[in-house]
Amino acid sequence: RTIIDAHKISKIYNQTMVPVKALQDVHVHIEEGEFVALVGPSGSGKSTLLNMMGGLDKPTSGSVIIDDVEITKLSENKLIDFRLHNIGFVFQSFNLIPVLTSKENIGFVLQLQNVPKKERKERVMELLKEIGLEDKIDNKPGELSGGQQQRVAVARALASKPQIVLADEPTANLDSKSANKLMDTMAKLNREENITFLFSTHDARVIKKARRVITLVDGRVDSDVQQTPI
Ligand code: ADP
Ligand code: ADP
Repeated sequence: RTIIDAHKISKIYNQTMVPVKALQDVHVHIEEGEFVALVGPSGSGKSTLLNMMGGLDKPTSGSVIIDDVEITKLSENKLIDFRLHNIGFVFQSFNLIPVLTSKENIGFVLQLQNVPKKERKERVMELLKEIGLEDKIDNKPGELSGGQQQRVAVARALASKPQIVLADEPTANLDSKSANKLMDTMAKLNREENITFLFSTHDARVIKKARRVITLVDGRVDSDVQQTPI
């Protein structure tokens, strides 16, 4: 079952003096349950593609269909609601809120969805257990290591039980041990809960964990290969 269908996506940024063609006719199908790395040189369009797939920005042309919903046609309000229920983001631009504890950062999304307090508490505990940070429930991000913060960000992305998690350079700035732990957490959730993961990365340690690697060059898909993860 196709869960993400990016259909002939082009994106031109016009805010600059010279328009930038960030994506050109990109065609990507992601099946439910896939674990995909999006790679390519800096500036090749990885973040732009993740933004389009997550409905954070609209393509100049082409459509994005997620779980049979053409999100490129949704109104801004419907899109916000769709994102909240269907897609988890682990993005640098969605940092953890420094004044909130782990449990508050994770529970915040559920609060936005008006999930009752008891249910919220249970879900937050379940997630903290999943990422192995039950003992950091009352710590704020500044009291956690980089790897621990990223794991909390993954837990937050999963709070609303999304079908899809999009992650932009999730292991950037992490040491090997933390990067491995984060990837193991993501791979486990992918296997056990059938959540579809798509993550951009430069990191060879991360690329080898993927089952499929899509390479962008100059805003186009240069290669798209299946592999056996190590
Ligand atoms: P990557 O994630 O692979 O590094 P990006 O998607 O960030 O690539 O960028 C693709 C191209 O689009 C680059 O040339 C970048 O400078 C340009 N770009 C990205 N975002 C914007 C923006 N908001 N305004 C103008 N140009 C942008
Ligand atoms: P992980 O691999 O889970 O990211 P680390 O190996 O980075 O964890 O850290 C090991 C231990 O050191 C953790 O239990 C964490 O509490 C502590 N620690 C690491 N960095 C920091 C930090 N910047 N502030 C507070 N505690 C830290």
